[in-house]
Amino acid sequence: MGGVARKFIFVTGGVLSGLGKGVTSASIGLLLKSSGYSVTAIKIDPYVNVDAGTMNPYMHGEVFVTEDGGETDLDIGHYERFLNINLSKKNNITTGKIYKTVIEKERKGDYLGETVQIIPHVTDEIKKEIREVSKEQGSDITIIEIGGTVGDIESLPFLEAARQLLMEEGSRNTFFVHVVLVPKLSVTGELKTKPAQHSIQELRRIGIQPDIIVARSEVPLDFEARKKLSLHSSLPIDAVISNPDVETIYLVPLILHKQRILKIISKKLGLELRKSDFSHWKEFVDRLLTGSTRVEIGMIGKYTKLKDSYISIVEALKHSAAQFLVKPSLKWYESTDIEEGRISPEQISEEVDGALILPGFGRRGVEGKISAIKVLREKGKPVLGICFGLQLMVVEYARNVLGLDNANSTEVDPNTPYPVVDLLSMQKGVLQKGGTMRLGSLPIRLVKGTKAFAFYEGREVIYERHRHRYQVNPKYIDLLESSGLRVSGYSLEGFPEVIESVERKFFLGTQAHPEFKSRPLNPAPLFKAFMKSLLK
Ligand code: GLN
Repeated sequence: MGGVARKFIFVTGGVLSGLGKGVTSASIGLLLKSSGYSVTAIKIDPYVNVDAGTMNPYMHGEVFVTEDGGETDLDIGHYERFLNINLSKKNNITTGKIYKTVIEKERKGDYLGETVQIIPHVTDEIKKEIREVSKEQGSDITIIEIGGTVGDIESLPFLEAARQLLMEEGSRNTFFVHVVLVPKLSVTGELKTKPAQHSIQELRRIGIQPDIIVARSEVPLDFEARKKLSLHSSLPIDAVISNPDVETIYLVPLILHKQRILKIISKKLGLELRKSDFSHWKEFVDRLLTGSTRVEIGMIGKYTKLKDSYISIVEALKHSAAQFLVKPSLKWYESTDIEEGRISPEQISEEVDGALILPGFGRRGVEGKISAIKVLREKGKPVLGICFGLQLMVVEYARNVLGLDNANSTEVDPNTPYPVVDLLSMQKGVLQKGGTMRLGSLPIRLVKGTKAFAFYEGREVIYERHRHRYQVNPKYIDLLESSGLRVSGYSLEGFPEVIESVERKFFLGTQAHPEFKSRPLNPAPLFKAFMKSLLK
């Protein structure tokens, strides 16, 4: 930005969490990037876990894995997909991480003689980490989304750090977006702004005056509601932006753009808008919305009650659907329902054109997944197995094709006579749980002449992101390959990374998670190939 100061845009939330602050942040980022600026984004999570890796998806949704092996919040996934950039584990700041650093510094003696306090020591550390990301990633504009809701005890140190940053960087370099919920009363149909008013007051009490209000609501805000919010936030009516529920999150940048959000931001921050070209994005959204070839996709996993558990997979399916003008309908099957007979694998196989065997951990629901894989395989339906999905495809094959009774992963049955999936050797002796899996972007050597090799357009070495402790046991490769399966990709250590059926059009499992690298305009190759296989 040629000598101009770095800019910081904070995004806070009011009324309740889960409003789509992440998508709002990502959308603002996309608009600024399309205007010629380099943009990065940070997610602040005010919980005491050091990272999201140790949380159950039901608590938190998916754990998004970055190139450098960070186990991060799912909003990092939104930022990567909207901004089309790779972020680092540093882009996710948590209370746990900040306190850990501060306490380590205290033990080292960095604050010798001082009483270590939330203000200034913790707030200084927060500001330092924000500035570091902005500097290291060479960003003109850093968007910082503060998770949780204004008024929570947990988020106070972060909001205080934001307030201090405003004092230090000046109001020309900092911008505050406050995202609120405006509920509609079902009886009268009226939009109620009172909870939003209170959260704006709460924000001001902390010392932050928002520059824009983004109102999330079921329907577009009417003039009355906008006027009220404008009055209570001391903002011009144009700075109250309506962000109603829409068919796809990918429409949000277009909705914000129509309401001239860029004009308001650029005016306050003194930015000159160089260009504003997001025609490719528009084209993608058009294709996504007009796709009409229906395909039914089975989603077989154990965290299916919270769709956010598999959000990157769902988004990756949309990216490839847009390419082929497909309208996918996702059918969710909870694997314990299969295991306990509430739904039969035969019925699933009849209901779907193909299925994904979703990632996961632990024994619950495993037998349900295995029985579903068996029927899908026998009926010749396309199957894509991801991580645990691949491992269970191998277990199923070992049991039902190779006749290895009670074959299993040692994660599920430590005493199995046929450990076709076993702990990675580098995991032996690892006792600590946080951040110790095989994580992040790692090379996979593809085997020439295989389907996977063709799906990746003839690249011999590819990189995908990983998150696992177990592997397909290399001792069984010969046996598996003697009976119709083939290893089409290997890790550098020599264990199978990709396994496919030789005969079948699409029966493929991957140890890595290709969904994390899928982008709206550049879908993940294996998802693309899977989607294509559903069309024929
Ligand atoms: N539980 C399996 C492992 O640790 C699979 C993990 C996953 O699906 N991400 O290897």
